[in-house]
Amino acid sequence: MNPLPTNLIQKFAEGVDTLYVLEQLDPVIEEHVRVLGIECRGKELFDLKGEYSQAMIKKVILGEEAEYLTTDMEIPPRPPALCPGCPHRGLFSALKPLNVMVSGDIGCYTLGALPPLSMMDTTICMGASVSALHGRNKIRPDEAKTSVAVIGDSTFVHSGITGMINAAYNQSNSKIIILDNSITGMTGHQQNPTTGKRINGDPTTAIDIEALAHSVGIERVLVVDPYDIAATREAIKAELEVDAPSVIISRIPCVLLKEVRAKQRKPFFVDPDKCVGCKACMKIGCPAISMKDKKSVFDFTQCVGCGMCKPLCKFDAIKEGD
Ligand code: SF4
Ligand code: SF4
Repeated sequence: MNPLPTNLIQKFAEGVDTLYVLEQLDPVIEEHVRVLGIECRGKELFDLKGEYSQAMIKKVILGEEAEYLTTDMEIPPRPPALCPGCPHRGLFSALKPLNVMVSGDIGCYTLGALPPLSMMDTTICMGASVSALHGRNKIRPDEAKTSVAVIGDSTFVHSGITGMINAAYNQSNSKIIILDNSITGMTGHQQNPTTGKRINGDPTTAIDIEALAHSVGIERVLVVDPYDIAATREAIKAELEVDAPSVIISRIPCVLLKEVRAKQRKPFFVDPDKCVGCKACMKIGCPAISMKDKKSVFDFTQCVGCGMCKPLCKFDAIKEGD
């Protein structure tokens, strides 16, 4: 947060015997605290590099080693995954059969690089998805019809807009897909200039992404619903055939937003009598879906009832919760 809440820091410091500043990387907050004349402990105890785990903090501050339990059980690996009901899953599932090169960016959607979706070929730095695709399409125009860029709404306003202007100005046939989940997901649900709220929640202006794209000269701007995987795929497929830059906005709010959770549907479930165990529903990689006794089962504690998996089952085994 900038500027730092000076009064809050001073008030907090007055109520403690020793003030520790735990911040990874550079001592930005620590130096600010010292400039305020407040004594604190920080980088003389903690490293400039690496992750600050609970165990490491406990050891440094209390001098105590963390206790660990051990087991001989074989624990299955649990790689990070998009959340159940994440709209980005629908977008990547729509892209998968199109066999496109995906110029990726930085956000929770970068998890689309992992199996089973495996739909991100490059991730360079924030905003680079759009500019890298533009550059690629300039040197390999024959491949413009088999490549797209994906970028989240927050990253787009951070540093994707300039790439979009470049694509429009230099007419590179780039297909820019903006994953608009109406929040900054990866870093913890901060507002951004597209959400209509300031970082502290106060109402403010909201960038109209469609109007912005039109205003820089992109004529082909469309909005798709990533929960409708088939329709999203058809829309992208059609845009890939067009000799012009396109902006495709994949828009569904993040499922973890309070207002979205409040309207969440009941968990879906599998009718075991109808399920033939074909695993088609598992191709989207939803963590709520697993196989047991050669049948698909949905974890009702994880399923948010997004319905994305239902059309994938040709046996009508997936049912809406009642
Ligand atoms: S797609 Fe349908 S039939 Fe196939 S495993 Fe999933 S629920 Fe069962
Ligand atoms: S409806 Fe299907 S895709 Fe959506 S969260 Fe539940 S199991 Fe996952």
